Amino acid sequence: MRLAVVGSGPAAFYCIQRLIKKAKFPIHIDMFERHPLPFGLACMSKFIEIGKSLKNFYGNVLIGDLRKPLSHQTHIPLKRLCERYNSILLASGATGANKLHIHGSEHIVTSVDFVALYNTEPNDKNNVELIQKISKIKHVTIIGNDIARMLLKPKSELENTDINKGFLENLSNSINTVLIIGRKSIYDVQFTAKEIREITNINDVQIKLNKREIYPEPSVLSKSKKRVVDLLLSSASDASNIKKKTLEFKFMRVPKCVHKMNEHLTMSVGKYRNQNDILVPSGEHEHIETDLIISSIGYAQENIDTLIENSKITHPTGKLLTNDSHCMLYSAGWAKRGPSGVLASTMMDANITADAILEDMDKQLDHESKHDMLPINNYVNWESAIRIHRKEIENGAKYSRSEILSLANTINI
Ligand SMILES: Cc1cc2nc3c(=O)[nH]c(=O)nc-3n(C[C@H](O)[C@H](O)[C@H](O)COP(=O)(O)OP(=O)(O)OC[C@H]3O[C@@H](n4cnc5c(N)ncnc54)[C@H](O)[C@@H]3O)c2cc1C
Repeated sequence: MRLAVVGSGPAAFYCIQRLIKKAKFPIHIDMFERHPLPFGLACMSKFIEIGKSLKNFYGNVLIGDLRKPLSHQTHIPLKRLCERYNSILLASGATGANKLHIHGSEHIVTSVDFVALYNTEPNDKNNVELIQKISKIKHVTIIGNDIARMLLKPKSELENTDINKGFLENLSNSINTVLIIGRKSIYDVQFTAKEIREITNINDVQIKLNKREIYPEPSVLSKSKKRVVDLLLSSASDASNIKKKTLEFKFMRVPKCVHKMNEHLTMSVGKYRNQNDILVPSGEHEHIETDLIISSIGYAQENIDTLIENSKITHPTGKLLTNDSHCMLYSAGWAKRGPSGVLASTMMDANITADAILEDMDKQLDHESKHDMLPINNYVNWESAIRIHRKEIENGAKYSRSEILSLANTINI
């Protein structure tokens, strides 16, 4: 049986691990990953070991006809894989970002794109422009969760990481105010106490929040949440700025629209108030002047191919019902469940998907012979990917990811 695996994150490796442990027949497994390096959002050393059982690893290969390939990527529609494999496992995660549907949302950068920027993930050209723009940005507004630490840490703390060096150079002297806007109240913050401590320990950053807006603590509040709230309140002051940089929190505000004038943005937000522990619109609005707005409101599933556009995922097996009876489609991980859950839940559902694949194999549904893969010219193979991955770990502080990846040119791209 020939199995194509789309994506190389934890779901893919957990599923393969189960398949090779339990299969009664040899399985030819090829893995396709859009990035040059494997492992998705999380890498564990045992994945490197599992990877040895792959027949082929095709890094730098984008699967799906609904995605626009980057200039250096090889691109294969799912239909082509269906012609050559008995089964396909979609383990492509949830690579999109939730977006705000408000007037002017085109001026908002998603955190998925922003993180890709400082991680030097291959992305589209606009990001180069954004990196250049960073040096002029003084005021950043973040809607939702936190990427503030990255923006406020001094250069000296970040230069020992594998952060994109162009990004760091431009970042270092510019941003002096970061504002975090939350739809809910301080009692709903998603930070951990450790994260708050990390923020408060950044040198020369003043934490600001308007304590007059904080309503009394609700009767039901978990101990850990109470610790986070206390920490935030004790580290915050609404005095005028005495430090070089400011991190300000504004809770109970919902973005309404964004306007752009020259290079400056104005975001209008609706304010909410507490009414018997329920947040209701207060009727008040506020205008926030800023240079950059980043929305960080979660990942979203994105369909990768028209072939699966109208198909349904059957739960819990992860099987996809399509019109193509010659190729079985399965899903695992965030591609199956959506962007929620940690590695443990990803492993559990990858195991269920693997069992469904094995069951179909046993029913002889999958043994039809298929042709070999068409030659793919522009890809990173497993040995090179792991060599680069190890280099990155050894030299992360010395080189940026882009420099490490450029090693790929000398290997086999
Ligand atoms: C910020 C963050 C922090 C987290 N921290 C933790 C933590 O501390 N502990 C924990 O247990 N869990 C954590 N998680 C959750 C964990 O990362 C997920 O459970 C896990 O990564 C899901 O695995 P996956 O394989 O489904 O998706 P992913 O890890 O996203 O892997 C999907 C892979 O598919 C590739 N891909 C996507 N589209 C295509 C395509 N069209 N063609 C080819 N390849 C494609 C992607 O590049 C990626 O490599 C965190 C998640 C996030 C977002």
